[in-house]
Amino acid sequence: MTKELLNKDVLKNHINGEWEEPGELGSVNNPATGETIVKVPLSKGNSVDKAVRAAKEAQKEWAQVPAPMRAEIMFEVGRIMKERKEHISKLLTLENGKVLEEARGEVQEGIDMAFYMAGEGRRMFGQTTNAELKDKFAMSVRAPVGVVGLITPWNFPIAIATWKSFPAIMAGNAVIWKPATETPIMANELMEIFNEAGLTKGVVNVVYGRGSDVGEAMVHHDDIRVISFTGSSETGSNIAAECGRQLKKVSLEMGGKNAVIVMDDADLDLAADGIVWSAFGTSGQRCTACSRVIVHEDVKEDLEKLVLEKMKELKIGDGLNKDVKVGPIINQAGIDKIKSYIEIGKGEATLLVGGNELTGGEYKEGLFFEPTVFTDAKMDMRIAQEEIFGPVVTMIPVKSFEEAIEANNSVKYGLSSSIFTQDINKVFKAQRDLDTGIVYVNAGTTGAEIHLPFGGTKATGNGHRDSGVQALDVFTEWKAVYVDYSGKLQRAQIDVD
Ligand code: NAP
Repeated sequence: MTKELLNKDVLKNHINGEWEEPGELGSVNNPATGETIVKVPLSKGNSVDKAVRAAKEAQKEWAQVPAPMRAEIMFEVGRIMKERKEHISKLLTLENGKVLEEARGEVQEGIDMAFYMAGEGRRMFGQTTNAELKDKFAMSVRAPVGVVGLITPWNFPIAIATWKSFPAIMAGNAVIWKPATETPIMANELMEIFNEAGLTKGVVNVVYGRGSDVGEAMVHHDDIRVISFTGSSETGSNIAAECGRQLKKVSLEMGGKNAVIVMDDADLDLAADGIVWSAFGTSGQRCTACSRVIVHEDVKEDLEKLVLEKMKELKIGDGLNKDVKVGPIINQAGIDKIKSYIEIGKGEATLLVGGNELTGGEYKEGLFFEPTVFTDAKMDMRIAQEEIFGPVVTMIPVKSFEEAIEANNSVKYGLSSSIFTQDINKVFKAQRDLDTGIVYVNAGTTGAEIHLPFGGTKATGNGHRDSGVQALDVFTEWKAVYVDYSGKLQRAQIDVD
């Protein structure tokens, strides 16, 4: 399968339009089978320096290309991605493990983002407004920042890259992109597509390598003026501290501890469907995955029964198999982290189902973990507060709507939340009071659309958003322009009669 999809054994950095011969190499393994799929360069800071020099030169020229012309290339990127969707999706399943239909959904997000951002080529609106003085014109325009650095995670290796790179390019910047070392193949695919679409050389440069080498070199580089990062809160806050020291703009999308609230008037069957899908899809490794269910005590038992019933349909295995619904965990560190939280959970709450790593038979070579439910937890327990990033969900019974909102907001993160209720008043109160960047009503915690802002409050982010038109704010500076056509010196900012 790998050979049919990927006609190379080694990936290469792409710098200034050239594929760079690699030095030290690491292995990329299929988490479902343990098979080595490809080798990836473990570059160092010198490759970042080289890429930044190329990007600086390319950006000067690229910024002069009218945005509608940049859009022609972006449309072509979307067209090629669409044509190659099945191929890219299969490769995504091979390197990340997520089931093929989810991989297709992720690639589609990238395609949608290409067409949406291409449309910005003819918008990218600024503002015109009135000036204080006669015969004077005032406007604000978006200006590119220069060279931007993108650091992306393994769990959405192509979608997140498109949420960042497409707005960056459309705004006239040049990009240095460090993909996650676990999932570099998507960067190779996208880079090939940029080239085929006719993107000017040096506008996007891919440098593979560890976060501690390539990532840190990017963060420390004086000529990279923006870092856009998605990953863990720990890494993100260290990056932000360094960027703060350098007065570098930084956009962070980080962890989550997302909850589904189920009220006593909810359609419980629908709620159970929403919980099972958003808790166990992508094996719980979505930043928006449901990892808490805050349930009204009057319906707790009925909801648990429905969830357990629906979980029986979750076939676990290799995501390329059609009937599989839950794929593998990305790596051994992921399994170890989940196992440690199972032990913590057993000491705090009641284990309802699951709790085991799957090791024998068809699971022998891969990294698999059973979908797991804890119940009777309290909102301040560790399993109800900390990000586990696996197929583990914790039920927290509550007595009222107000307590449900309090439980939702009790965590340090603020990415996604959801409420199942038939009461329109509760719907509107919840969308106002849930302290998360994304709120769903009568749906699970996952399923963001690319034309809306994506991101979270509190420790999930630092106020920026990926995707949506808001993504342009990360990659542009606002420039205020005043044009005085009076022909004489008009003094502003002083009191005049
Ligand atoms: P991570 O360890 O923070 O890694 C993310 C990226 O940062 C990778 O490319 C990594 O490189 C790089 N990196 C690691 N150390 C670095 C350093 N010192 N300097 C610069 N870059 C560095 O996160 P992860 O465990 O892969 O991803 C899972 C996390 O991402 C979860 O917490 C999840 O909630 C979060 N996430 C958030 C969102 C969102 O939008 N809010 C979306 C997806 C994921 P290597 O590949 O070499 O490790």
